[in-house]
Amino acid sequence: MHGVINPATEDVIASVAFASVEETDEAIARAHEALPSWRDMAPGERADLLRRFAAVVRAHEDDLASLEITNSGHTVGNARAEAQLVAKTMDYYAGGPERLFGKQIPVPGGVDVTFHEPVGVVGVIVPWNFPMTIAAWGFVPALAAGCTVVVKPAELTPLTAMALGEYAIEAGLPPGVLTVLPGAGPVVGQRFVDHPQVRKVVFTGSTAVGKQVMAGCAQQVKRVTLELGGKSANIVFADADVEKAAATAPYGVFDNAGQDCCARSRILVQRTAYDRFMELLEPAVKGVQVGDPRDPATEMGPLISRQQHERVASYVPADARVAFAGSCPSGPGFWFPPTVLQGSADDRSFREEIFGPVVTVVPFEDEADAVRMANDTVYGLSGSIWTRDVGRALRVSRAVEAGALSVNSHSSVRYWTPFGGFKESGLGRELGPDALESFTETKNVFISAD
Ligand code: NAD
Repeated sequence: MHGVINPATEDVIASVAFASVEETDEAIARAHEALPSWRDMAPGERADLLRRFAAVVRAHEDDLASLEITNSGHTVGNARAEAQLVAKTMDYYAGGPERLFGKQIPVPGGVDVTFHEPVGVVGVIVPWNFPMTIAAWGFVPALAAGCTVVVKPAELTPLTAMALGEYAIEAGLPPGVLTVLPGAGPVVGQRFVDHPQVRKVVFTGSTAVGKQVMAGCAQQVKRVTLELGGKSANIVFADADVEKAAATAPYGVFDNAGQDCCARSRILVQRTAYDRFMELLEPAVKGVQVGDPRDPATEMGPLISRQQHERVASYVPADARVAFAGSCPSGPGFWFPPTVLQGSADDRSFREEIFGPVVTVVPFEDEADAVRMANDTVYGLSGSIWTRDVGRALRVSRAVEAGALSVNSHSSVRYWTPFGGFKESGLGRELGPDALESFTETKNVFISAD
């Protein structure tokens, strides 16, 4: 049994049995057995079951939120929004089964049609930072497309995904259609990669493990979606609403204590607005409410683990150029204050994903300089652009190599728009109208008119 810890108190809150390779193989076999009846179910019936699943999740919103608060240290506001997002994702993709259209393509001598066939059993591997939403972004469109699914939550945060597995049964999904298997990455996750009956792996996590998953999947030419790390830029031009850019910048990076793949952890500010921006940023950062995640006034909770705390602290050594920092509780819990570093583009804190509440601010000269600095990274997930000049907003949005950008805002992920990364931030897209098809193979059939 593995102890699950509340990161705000360091108390053990649950014990979870981790699946072995044999148990993983049994779950994959059940998913494979459940596939024909799920795939062949009338589309409207599969849609109804997904709607019922959404209703059960809504009925358990409080339970899911409270699990995420105690297991992951998410603030109560975030945890509730995440439970609602899971239900909304289910409702959105419940519209999928009846709309999984193929094409009719004109050909001589007959009729040519395409079908979107479900790929088969899908394995979803989930990180610890957004345990229930990231699980759902993988398994919901897969189920809608007619696939059966095995899910492996992160070792540190299995509780909400395990609850979702139980709600699937409560909603009436047939046994074997969705199975949640808590376990170790190199055991259960690796088995999803190696087992020939798993036909697609959806992996969200670090770029290092993502590369191993991709290499493993290549052995069987297994389909793979990768959602990996990020080092996103928040670019503030001097012609922007600098007050608003500074007031919102902390929330673009410190949400979920900076443990967000989309965290805008590099702030690039045009030199002529730099001093003014820093002057405005200081009270905004010091105003971030860090504390008990159960308190509705709290805006930022703890880091997930002691190990993560040590990792984040390594980016703020004694001689770090700290411009200013917020405050956080002392005592038990993995607390770290929101911290702003002044730096240069060569700094380790500016180049590596920190996954904590630490942001580095660096000045730039002009538009070309901003784009060059924003793109000078192996990552390409997200980013923000602040300017009042529409032409510049368009030019820079097109020039920044990242999959999910926002202008004059730090918009988060929406279930109805595509999400994913350029370069080493990932491969493929989740969510939005096209995610459904990523769980299918296109089959072309020619029917002769003879
Ligand atoms: P991680 O790579 O350590 O683990 C992710 C998952 O992979 C866990 O479930 C883990 O058990 C599993 N795993 C570990 N070894 C494995 C193996 N050999 N085979 C198969 N599975 C294995 O990542 P993490 O520390 O849990 O999460 C943080 C990382 O996730 C950050 O880099 C962050 O940027 C990234 N992330 C990306 C997105 C995105 O959408 N792009 C979203 C959230 C998090």
